[in-house]
Amino acid sequence: MDVRVRALQSLLVEKGYLDPAALDVIIETYEHQVGPHNGARVVARAWAEPAFMEWLLRDATAAIASMGYTGRQGEHMVAVANTPQTHHMVVCTLCSCYPWPVLGLPPVWYKSAPYRSKAVMDPRGVLADFGVHVDDGVTLRVWDSTAEVRYLVVPMRPAGTDGWTQEQLATLVTRDSMIGTGLALPPSAVAEAAA
Ligand code: FE
Repeated sequence: MDVRVRALQSLLVEKGYLDPAALDVIIETYEHQVGPHNGARVVARAWAEPAFMEWLLRDATAAIASMGYTGRQGEHMVAVANTPQTHHMVVCTLCSCYPWPVLGLPPVWYKSAPYRSKAVMDPRGVLADFGVHVDDGVTLRVWDSTAEVRYLVVPMRPAGTDGWTQEQLATLVTRDSMIGTGLALPPSAVAEAAA
C-alpha cells in the first residue's frame, strides 16, 4: 500500500496535478494543529454547559463550528452521548471516514480491516480488545460513518470532577473515548500524570 501511494503521488506530481508543498501543509496541519485536543474541548464544554450539550446533540455541526472547528470531513457532524444505559462506538466499515476537525487523522487501527469488521460483528469483543469493560446490561450502539456523516462520541463525565474547569475536564477526554473504544479518564489518571 505504501509503495502504491508513493507511486501514485509521484505520478500526480510529475503530471503537475499535485503540488508537494501543498500536500506537506495539509499533513502538517492535521498532524500538529488539528487533533483530538479539539474534540476534547468540545466534550468538556458539553459536560460543563447543559445548554451547549443540548445544542451539540441537536446540531453538532453548528455547535462544533461555533468553537472554530470546521473544515473537510467535518461538514456534517452528529454527536452521540454515552449514558449509563447506552455506549456508542464509531466505525467506518467501508474505509476510514473520520471527523478530522475534532479528532485529527484516524489512527492506523481505525483504518484496519479487523476493526472495521469486528466493530459491527462483535462490538463487545472490540471493547475487550481495548481493555474496556462495559456492563452486560448496557446497550452498545455502533455508528457507521459515511462520506457525508461523521460521528463524535461524548463519553460520560467521570465522577469526582465537580467544580473542574473546562480546561481541566478536557485533559480527561481521550481520542479513543470520542471514538467509543475508550472511556474518559478518571481524575486519578491526571493526578498521577502530573505527579
Ligand atoms: Fe470511510
